[in-house]
Amino acid sequence: MRIVLLGGPGSGKGTQAKKLVDKYGIPQISTGDIFRAALKEGTPMGLKAKTYMDKGELVPDDVVVGVVEERLKKPDLDKGFMLDGFPRTLPQAEALDRILGSMSKKVDHAVLVDVPDQELMARLTGRRTCRNSNCGKMYHVMFNPPKKEGVCDACGSELYQRDDDSEATIRERLNVYNAQTAPLIDYYKEKGLLRRVEGVGPIDEIFASIVKILG
Ligand code: AMP
Repeated sequence: MRIVLLGGPGSGKGTQAKKLVDKYGIPQISTGDIFRAALKEGTPMGLKAKTYMDKGELVPDDVVVGVVEERLKKPDLDKGFMLDGFPRTLPQAEALDRILGSMSKKVDHAVLVDVPDQELMARLTGRRTCRNSNCGKMYHVMFNPPKKEGVCDACGSELYQRDDDSEATIRERLNVYNAQTAPLIDYYKEKGLLRRVEGVGPIDEIFASIVKILG
């Protein structure tokens, strides 16, 4: 099963991706995670990506497409994959179809986790992420707080606020999403691949709606 997850920043698609990965046993490919890992290692690609990420802008298509193409050629994707945070522009979506086409594969479902902008803003400003990259669990100071403030329930590591979760950056990320990524909803609708899910409500209920659609 080859799935693309669509949704604004803070829509909860990362959280749902992790749960879907557990259920279906397919790898999650998150371009945001790939960039953060590259930055942590201090690679030139990571440092380049950071200049865009810190401003809430998109990393240029050629960089992102190169990263994803390399990842899609690895041999662990026989059962499929879950793309989280890619594609984010029409040229990226077209590049994805081209790359998959060259491997005689295609996207099976584009799942849209649909959340209004106002709700996204409230969610993102309170978001906290586990600093341990092997865990990466996400919390919210109001909606989903950890048992002990600032500490991950799952692994005990420190929680932090991502650099790109500040208010000005969040506003820019929402603008970018609406201008550049939202057109992908029509792109996948026209291909008959769009599966829209209401992204407001308990995490497990949203997950159940997605599973119902995917079967
Ligand atoms: P995310 O973790 O998916 O919210 O991504 C964090 C940041 O990484 C984004 O705000 C972008 O700056 C960059 N990024 C991640 N995925 C992409 C992509 N597909 N295209 C362009 N930039 C991306």
